[in-house]
Amino acid sequence: MAFDTSSARRTLAIVGGGFSGALLALKLVALRPGWRVVLIDPSSRPGRGLAYGACAPSHLLNVPVNRMEAGLSPAFADWLTGRSEMAEALAESGGEISDAFSPRELWGQYLQQQVSAARVTDHGPGLTVLRGEAVRLLDEPRRGLMLGDGREVEADTVVLATGNLPPRPPLPDGSWLRDAAVFAADPWAHDALGGVAPDAPVLLLGTGLTMVDIALKLAESGHRGPMLAVSRRGLLPGAHRYGGHWEPFLAPILPVSPLTLSKAIRAEVRRAAEAGQPWQRVIDAVRPVIARIWSSWTSAQKRQFLRHQRPRWDVHRHRMAPRIAERIDALIASGQLCVRAARSRDWTPAGDGVAVTLQPRGGGASETLTVAKVINCTGPRSDLHGLEVPLYADLARKGLIAPDDLGLGLETADCAVLDARGEVSTWLHALGPLTRPAWWEITAVPEITAQVDGLAHRLAEDAVATPVLSEVFVDLGAGI
Ligand SMILES: Cc1cc2nc3c(=O)[nH]c(=O)nc-3n(C[C@H](O)[C@H](O)[C@H](O)COP(=O)(O)OP(=O)(O)OC[C@H]3O[C@@H](n4cnc5c(N)ncnc54)[C@H](O)[C@@H]3O)c2cc1C
Repeated sequence: MAFDTSSARRTLAIVGGGFSGALLALKLVALRPGWRVVLIDPSSRPGRGLAYGACAPSHLLNVPVNRMEAGLSPAFADWLTGRSEMAEALAESGGEISDAFSPRELWGQYLQQQVSAARVTDHGPGLTVLRGEAVRLLDEPRRGLMLGDGREVEADTVVLATGNLPPRPPLPDGSWLRDAAVFAADPWAHDALGGVAPDAPVLLLGTGLTMVDIALKLAESGHRGPMLAVSRRGLLPGAHRYGGHWEPFLAPILPVSPLTLSKAIRAEVRRAAEAGQPWQRVIDAVRPVIARIWSSWTSAQKRQFLRHQRPRWDVHRHRMAPRIAERIDALIASGQLCVRAARSRDWTPAGDGVAVTLQPRGGGASETLTVAKVINCTGPRSDLHGLEVPLYADLARKGLIAPDDLGLGLETADCAVLDARGEVSTWLHALGPLTRPAWWEITAVPEITAQVDGLAHRLAEDAVATPVLSEVFVDLGAGI
């Protein structure tokens, strides 16, 4: 059956009701009220996903309110107005709601309410939310999905929006620690931080934003014991800073190699410092062209960037809200949190805990210490090769997806999924962090919103894929 006119009634099934999937569903039901849009997610709180579902009161958005606007009504800023939970955020931003860093919990509530308000419960047109896990595609010639409990959803179009996968354990294959109770493989699991005595030492593997979240959550829950965070380079995310401006500066030297890019950014940061401008505005000035730069690189250049430049790029690009940075600084100053550049090895059972040897980066004597819990804070997994998740195993078996060689996600062309032979699907799409191989920076709300808007319009108009890669990012460079 061909669906080649915009007026034909269609059914779309979206796998994943986090921010990406929920926003696409909301945009589509607004654009095509006659279509049936089925949003599938295991959570009882659709709209939140991982990032805005598993958050503690201390967790703040790492993007200010004005950059979180996703074109929904009411606007997030209006919805927040008058909320007592915003008092601290407003005090910090000088009373400006648009510049404030809201608690993540509020953004989760806002998205969940948006989904509830749009949701219809019957089988007709509009938004249907199904609670469950999509485990495989329906067999040809039918199209659609089967859920874990055997329910079937027939759909003309399927969109994968499964977002942030649990992290890979940074441990050797076969390591006893992988299955041990002292190892929290998924820091977002509800019981991940359980069973640790308040004064016991804890090892956090990773020093990025996930570690920041977990250290704050532990401290907030009354943990008083030492927290040691290690990663190969020991880099902590930078902090957001208000004010200043820096003009985009890369256009004249494009295309640019990874090495030249980092040299150009470093030189520009020096110039900005001399002009009294924060480095944060220089990074913001790079953002509008980062997708264009990424897509111009060869596979070897991308690999080079991921290996050598990515750690520094990540800590400058993905920053902590100012208040979060202050809390982390306070934990470090008090001695409770220690951040080290080291490799961990030789894990051995030690009483109820685990002994681990840390080899400092750049040499120096190794040190063996015993901790009560090891928490995997290495961040969401992106590599889909060999992923033991039923839906992806099914898609891989059927040759319908092509995980990329760099381990970043799925190969796509303007959100249409490429199959194992490199052919662009007309009915299978992907959104959000899964599409990193094509977009690179497709993690945060501003970029995902631009991507969702593009896909919603293309689906609603039944338009063929059009290249939107760099253009949609053009207005995303403004700082906070
Ligand atoms: C802890 C954390 C904090 C963040 N904070 C910010 C922030 O402050 N600002 C910002 O701009 N960005 C932030 N991000 C970036 C974040 O990736 C995006 O903002 C956005 O939430 C991604 O949404 P998503 O829907 O693609 O993924 P997710 O939020 O991961 O949602 C995916 C959903 O798909 C579901 N799912 C997976 N597989 C299946 C299946 N087979 N069947 C059915 N459902 C399935 C999952 O259960 C989940 O609910 C944060 C990310 C994390 C991890």
